[in-house]
Amino acid sequence: MSSTVFMTDMSATWKKSVPAKVAKLFDQTDPARIFGKRDLVAVKIHFGEQGCTAHIRPQYVRKVVDRLKEIGARPFLTDTNTLYVGSRTEACSHILTATENGFGREVTAAPIIIADGLRGNNSTAVSVDGQHVKTAHIASDIHYADGLVVLTHFKAHELSGFGGTLKNVGMGCAARQGKLEQHSNISPKVNEKKCIGCGDCITWCRGGAISLTGEGKQQTSVIDPERCVGCAECILSCPHGAIQIQWNQSIPVFMEKMVEYAAAVIRSKTDRVVFLTFITDVSPLCDCTPFSDRSIVPDVGILASTDPVAIDQAAVDLVNAAPGNPLSRLESALAPGEDKFQALFPGIDWSHQLEYAEQIGLGTRQYELVKL
Ligand code: SF4
Ligand code: SF4
Repeated sequence: MSSTVFMTDMSATWKKSVPAKVAKLFDQTDPARIFGKRDLVAVKIHFGEQGCTAHIRPQYVRKVVDRLKEIGARPFLTDTNTLYVGSRTEACSHILTATENGFGREVTAAPIIIADGLRGNNSTAVSVDGQHVKTAHIASDIHYADGLVVLTHFKAHELSGFGGTLKNVGMGCAARQGKLEQHSNISPKVNEKKCIGCGDCITWCRGGAISLTGEGKQQTSVIDPERCVGCAECILSCPHGAIQIQWNQSIPVFMEKMVEYAAAVIRSKTDRVVFLTFITDVSPLCDCTPFSDRSIVPDVGILASTDPVAIDQAAVDLVNAAPGNPLSRLESALAPGEDKFQALFPGIDWSHQLEYAEQIGLGTRQYELVKL
């Protein structure tokens, strides 16, 4: 059986602006049936790193917020802190970055709540019983929301081939410990050349896994992998950037863990989830980079569905069906129908995340595209 994916293109007229089309598209999913009065609805979005300009336009977000308010729900914009050190590593910087990128309440009419708290450790353990993940560490303020609207900016991604809904939910709704679990299967490592032996990280270590070794100026910290619980607190705590993630997770396992995390988030919402995907400014790298390079294809449109797998499959098909931008990083696969994501990241089989998501019953890759 197939799932319905609604689509609007990016054309606009005097009578029909793109924001107005976003509101109409959202209505196709019947939000008044899915969400109720006084529901706290998390509107999950990637605000973009400082310098990123490809993120979803805040004016589109406003339309979704307005519609939720008309229903009587109480929407808030949300994302989680990053695993790496950047402009969204903790909630203070994260909210300032979101505001700088245009997501302030003056534009979107909704408050911003960083769902995993000030330092990324406000998480709730959710049973998922996956092949890799038994307990997912989900950002608490997403877990405890009554409903979820997932707004995804669709783009290429250096780890998953494309960054779509499954990634926005699986990685994007995980607290820092959950992000580390997906990215790495062993503890972080101390870069001895950068470490000055100050010991600050020891205070933050949840597992009592860090100690100092050596004498005087040669002193550095060391992590005991047997005691490390993978909370990732130390990565943020080191003022010298000396503690590093070990990006050793094989890509298929990374995708499977990401999908299992997505399942933990979505299943806890018992059908009170809607997905909107913006295939606009399809940048060649993730919005976590502090810049947005030229789009690899012209703007394609915006999708809506209640099936996270179908909407990702439709988005990747639509991008691949589009002509590539010869001025972008895309050096091959420019013809319509050629695989743009394989061309950008030849070692990554993006389809694995969709196959696995379908296999665990998160949705279907079969879809009917209904154009508005
Ligand atoms: S890793 Fe960073 S915080 Fe820890 S001792 Fe070294 S310099 Fe200090
Ligand atoms: S990840 Fe957590 S438990 Fe492991 S060394 Fe870092 S702070 Fe300690």
